[in-house]
Amino acid sequence: MHMTATQTAPPSLIWLRDDLRLDDNPALAAAAADGPVVALYVLDNSGKSGRPLGGAARWWLHKSLTSLHHDFAQHGVQLIFRHGDPTHIVPALAHEIGAISVHWNRRYYAWSKPLDGAIKTALGDAGIRVESHKGSVLTEPWEIKTGSGNYFKVFTPFFRAATPTCDAWAAFAHETPKLTGAKVDTKSDSLADWGLLPTKPDWSGGLAASWTPGEAGASENLARFMESGLKGYKDNRNLPAITGTSRLSPHLRFGEISIRRVWNAARAKMAAVPDLATDGQTFLSELGWREFSTQLVYHYEDFPDQSWKAEFRAFPWTTDAPALARWQNGQTGYPIVDAGMRELWATGWMHNRVRMIVASLLVKHMLIDWREGEKWFWDTLVDADIANNAAGWQWVAGSGADASPYFRIFNPMTQGENFDPKGQYVRKWVPEIARLPDSFIHRPFDAPPEILRGVGITLGQTYPRPIIDHAKGRARALEALASLKGKATLGEMS
Ligand code: FAD
Repeated sequence: MHMTATQTAPPSLIWLRDDLRLDDNPALAAAAADGPVVALYVLDNSGKSGRPLGGAARWWLHKSLTSLHHDFAQHGVQLIFRHGDPTHIVPALAHEIGAISVHWNRRYYAWSKPLDGAIKTALGDAGIRVESHKGSVLTEPWEIKTGSGNYFKVFTPFFRAATPTCDAWAAFAHETPKLTGAKVDTKSDSLADWGLLPTKPDWSGGLAASWTPGEAGASENLARFMESGLKGYKDNRNLPAITGTSRLSPHLRFGEISIRRVWNAARAKMAAVPDLATDGQTFLSELGWREFSTQLVYHYEDFPDQSWKAEFRAFPWTTDAPALARWQNGQTGYPIVDAGMRELWATGWMHNRVRMIVASLLVKHMLIDWREGEKWFWDTLVDADIANNAAGWQWVAGSGADASPYFRIFNPMTQGENFDPKGQYVRKWVPEIARLPDSFIHRPFDAPPEILRGVGITLGQTYPRPIIDHAKGRARALEALASLKGKATLGEMS
């Protein structure tokens, strides 16, 4: 044990994971109530914490931890960085600093139960009190049950049943507790040594220009959105050319803002401005999708890697690496899709409407397995979240719980025309076709040759022809679906 001579009360340890904040952090509040606090973040390279983070999320994590370290320091609290296996590191550090207790906020994945369980046992054996808390969700996956005691597989009844719990739990939101630091003489890694930031090449310039990771950036986003974004959200959330959504997803993913704060902010605004009832309700239901996805992945552990609907596991996906690369690089020849894929690559984020359109093209027109798309998103999204990402992909693929049926095939031209009618979004991200008139901005391949010539476009050279003709792709997708129907009963899909 290495406490300073002046230290009297034994410290309490908070092990931070997906809750990188001080405000309304139940584990931190409980640790602070126990005594002086020491904070710990472990970069798990033991493989016990599920999938390693993707590149964009690693960038975010570095920035977020830098910010958190600074915020804790303002309160005199040490944030210690360690890498390795948390089942060794957490109990060893608790023992080393003479911790009276250890606190963390729960996670809800297949691997979290054995991981946390092992640490709980080790701490218990060492006589150290350990408490886990509900800090990342409004409803824990076992809290909301159907009348027959099962988990919900359809969103609307889930959300109706969950709303009172969301409201009740959100009412417990609290300020940053009064913190006392415990000065402990122990080693901490340097974040720089973790190699989370990209080098050779450093592709993070666009991410840095788009985001402010950390608690302060998260609160600013929430305040901005409540001030000017909630009004009109129901319609504006579908328009990728404007900032019509909260852009809170990476902040929520890393727990830089409490979900209770977000819920309460919307509720308060709705109470103050009755006209915002519909927009506010739409926003709350999006937060509800996050809860719904969390409970899906908790109850069906293979959800990130396996179609939820068993019949989809026999789907005749194709393997086509060059086509996949064209999709990843934003070179499909469908402008709205290419704009989305380039926005993702440049900024680490993509608008929700466009996520649905690009995903639909991949799994339907291109017949490529949704898991390929999920993997690419996992690597490139700053908000990459194991539950929300798989739920999004399986929703589009038609293989998920309460999913869009597979036979609903987005037309990328009409989607573009409906949701980016002036083509501003496409012009921003696909500048080589920016001079096309609005009538052809979402369908350059339909433009007469003289128009293409006039704006300097040679299809197949300066901008690709469509990776597959829409009508042909649609017919092929439906055929693939029909082949599946021969093999299995598709129940609610038909
Ligand atoms: P807002 O519209 O402001 O919504 C507020 C918050 O609600 C979001 O920050 C998010 O936490 C939650 N939310 C909104 N929509 C959804 C949804 N459909 N499912 C679950 N939660 C939602 N979201 C992720 O957080 N991580 C992912 O990895 C992810 N992958 C996706 C993949 C696909 C194929 C699709 C179709 C959607 C995916 N989503 C994912 C959901 C959604 O696109 C993003 O949450 C949203 O675009 C984030 O922007 P925002 O914060 O401005 O959203």
